Amino acid sequence: MHAVQFADHGDRGVIEYAERPEPSAGRDEVLVDVKAGALNHLDVWTRRGLPGIDLELPHVPGSDAAGVVESVGEGVTRFEPGDRVAVSAGVSCGDCEFCRHGEQSQCVDYYIIGEHVPGVHAEYAAVPEDNLVAVPEGVDWATAAAAPLVFQTAWRMLMARADVRAGESVLVLGASGGVGHAAVQIADFAGAEVVATASTAEKLDYAREVGADHAINYAETDFAAQIDDLTDGRGVDVVVDHVGGETWDDSLKSLAKGGRLVTCGATAGSRPETNVNRVFWNQLSILGSTMATPGEVDDVLSKVWDGTFEVRVRGRLPMSETSRAHELLEDREGFGKVVVVPDSEFDE
Ligand SMILES: [Zn+2]
Repeated sequence: MHAVQFADHGDRGVIEYAERPEPSAGRDEVLVDVKAGALNHLDVWTRRGLPGIDLELPHVPGSDAAGVVESVGEGVTRFEPGDRVAVSAGVSCGDCEFCRHGEQSQCVDYYIIGEHVPGVHAEYAAVPEDNLVAVPEGVDWATAAAAPLVFQTAWRMLMARADVRAGESVLVLGASGGVGHAAVQIADFAGAEVVATASTAEKLDYAREVGADHAINYAETDFAAQIDDLTDGRGVDVVVDHVGGETWDDSLKSLAKGGRLVTCGATAGSRPETNVNRVFWNQLSILGSTMATPGEVDDVLSKVWDGTFEVRVRGRLPMSETSRAHELLEDREGFGKVVVVPDSEFDE
């Protein structure tokens, strides 16, 4: 079979689409005939190499994919050949104090398929049964592949961590990214007034289409000043930040007294300066969030499958063009998710 892989960490040139042995399903695993995969920023970090994560090379990347069950291990009870499934990439031990309290994404041994262990951007992938969710008929493969990681991440950030309530105001930074475009929709669903930032007029239009009430072009204007204007100096109740870096200080500035900043990533830098005076005087909360519990995954994906939430796809490419897929993410081109399809299944 063919799979995306890289034999060294580095720039986009390390990505290849190579022949590899077809995996087989272990006892509690399912062999999935992959119909589509989706990219996340995590794939870019993994390709470049993450400190503290020592991967066996060559590494097959990919945390999001969907397809048809080809075969199942003898311990598998929930799936059988022919079932439609999608991967939910967080792996937890099931037995630590956090798992036992139902907080699987806080597991002390938590890891993510594709980041810490071989991923699913291949013609076939062997995936633990616990990391698969059923996909109803009628849901297209791109949606099934692209929804799980970003929608579970955004759902937990807003619904569990920030606990957004109807009538509150929510600022979503970087609304054109996968997490951003999910967060806009979820905040809107929760009944919040949603402000989105993006870098072009076209992306701002898309953000409005998926539920933003206001849209700010951060490339042209200071978004913290715009929030100040928009809220008559009050600030917003919640900021969704997956950017970090230079936006961090402005995120904190944009919050109302008692506001909550919820973060799931730092694509622009993980060590921004924090004005601690602002944090205590304004009684701000800074909330971290990673992935989601299986129950949260079920809650949000049921709303993707029934069409409440929509996965926007900025590009659909054969897996042999994964390098271009990374470029779309790294250069922040387009709006929504980047989908890759095994070349043997690619039909346009
Ligand atoms: Zn655990």
